[in-house]
Amino acid sequence: MYSISEKINLTEKATVEKNTFINDEAVPSAITTFTCCHCGNKNTVAIVPYESGFPVLQLYHEDKVVSKDELLRHKIVNGTSQSMLHFGELTVNDLPTLYFGIDCTSCHSKYIGVFSYGEKQPGLMILTISGIWKYE
Ligand SMILES: [Zn+2]
Repeated sequence: MYSISEKINLTEKATVEKNTFINDEAVPSAITTFTCCHCGNKNTVAIVPYESGFPVLQLYHEDKVVSKDELLRHKIVNGTSQSMLHFGELTVNDLPTLYFGIDCTSCHSKYIGVFSYGEKQPGLMILTISGIWKYE
């Protein structure tokens, strides 16, 4: 997993095997696969809560990597509810939201994944992967 600092263009959305992890399912890591749109290879992704990923704000700050509009249009994030704005303007599921860059291990196509993790209700920790998109 790596951070992205240059402007990118999102293309296709990859198929992700499992998107939602509840409580112990995300400990010690949430593991899923995505299928490469280009070569069909199944890539494994392991997200470690509080360790993996970079703040999603880094993507849309000054529209540096991806614009807010594009993030909303691709349904990568939603506008955050008024009461949860301390997590940022754009989030997944009104929880702290992060992203990561990852390459297909077979053809090296580039992908970006976005997820959120946090306590949705007392005793209910949810990790939600909003999706993994191919980019150029
Ligand atoms: Zn591939």
